[in-house]
Amino acid sequence: MTKNKQQLLIGAHMSIAGGLDQALVRGKSIGCTTIQIFTKSNRQWAAKKLTDDDIEKFKKTQKEFGISPVVAHSSYLINLGSPKKDISEKSTDALAIELERCEALGIPYLILHPGSCLTSSEEECIKQIAQNLNKVFQRAPGKTMVLLETMAGQGSIIGYKFEQLAQIIKLTKNKKRIGVCLDTCHVFAAGYDFRIKKKYEDMWKEFDKTIGLKKLKVIHINDSGRDLGARVDRHTDIGKGKIGLEGFKLLFNDPRFFDIPKLLETPKDLADDKRNINTIKKLLTAKTKKELSA
Ligand code: ZN
Ligand code: ZN
Ligand code: ZN
Repeated sequence: MTKNKQQLLIGAHMSIAGGLDQALVRGKSIGCTTIQIFTKSNRQWAAKKLTDDDIEKFKKTQKEFGISPVVAHSSYLINLGSPKKDISEKSTDALAIELERCEALGIPYLILHPGSCLTSSEEECIKQIAQNLNKVFQRAPGKTMVLLETMAGQGSIIGYKFEQLAQIIKLTKNKKRIGVCLDTCHVFAAGYDFRIKKKYEDMWKEFDKTIGLKKLKVIHINDSGRDLGARVDRHTDIGKGKIGLEGFKLLFNDPRFFDIPKLLETPKDLADDKRNINTIKKLLTAKTKKELSA
């Protein structure tokens, strides 16, 4: 029986300076098989409209390099859970526009920080996030999914417990368009330990019980500069933080997640990303290498 080997899906967040297609060029240059981008400046509300030329160039380059999937991360300014009506509306508009951009570019996933409560209760905030997501899906029809990211739990941020993400999904109408991105640094800082096999299995069991493994579409791979449960979000190089290599070894040799894109968001230039990718590749066991081409 011949079976094509599946590719190791590993990459990093790439800058779009010089054009969206340039993110693919950067990714390719360090051996990424998947990348993450912002489809617009992440610290501004406004976005320059995508031209047909931008879209065509991007799609052509992606096809040529075979980088797939490309994943998008939404702007840090967006807060669907804001108790301030104007921010909540502005965020909903901005997310719908980002979703449209992804749709045009053929990007299947748009990652979102669920939101911050500020002065409202977590319960109210969760309800509002779901309501705003319903509006977004209505305004931007298509196939691109919004992935709620697991968060470290700094300040009044929502999403530091699997239950909170499960609750948002439960309250959202269009469930086909909503999934989850697990960030290793964030879950660790939020208190989920996965540094040894037993704890690793427990974490995924809990994820499956609350959210469901089928909802997991992307994994952000970052080591954590802060301790377990510190609820502070500090990304560090793989193996250099409080998680350490063993947790990443468990993750990268777990066949359940071979087809999930795994993306670095560590402090960086391209050389740093390349070094982190090499660190990961050294963690692959002989058995994994038999199943994946890396
Ligand atoms: Zn994020
Ligand atoms: Zn992340
Ligand atoms: Zn983070």
